[in-house]
Amino acid sequence: MGKIKPPKVRKFGKGARRCIRCGTHEALIRMYNLNICRRCFREVAEDIGFKKYM
Ligand SMILES: [Zn+2]
Repeated sequence: MGKIKPPKVRKFGKGARRCIRCGTHEALIRMYNLNICRRCFREVAEDIGFKKYM
């Protein structure tokens, strides 16, 4: 815990949605304004409590 940031980052405009972790723009997950791809989500999921996802 402690790594969680409030979802207030909004510097990604239209067409600029990329994974904030690895930079890819495929299979993005934007729930909770995470803006990360599925791969990174699986890693971050543990931190945000979505360990059961997938
Ligand atoms: Zn990623």
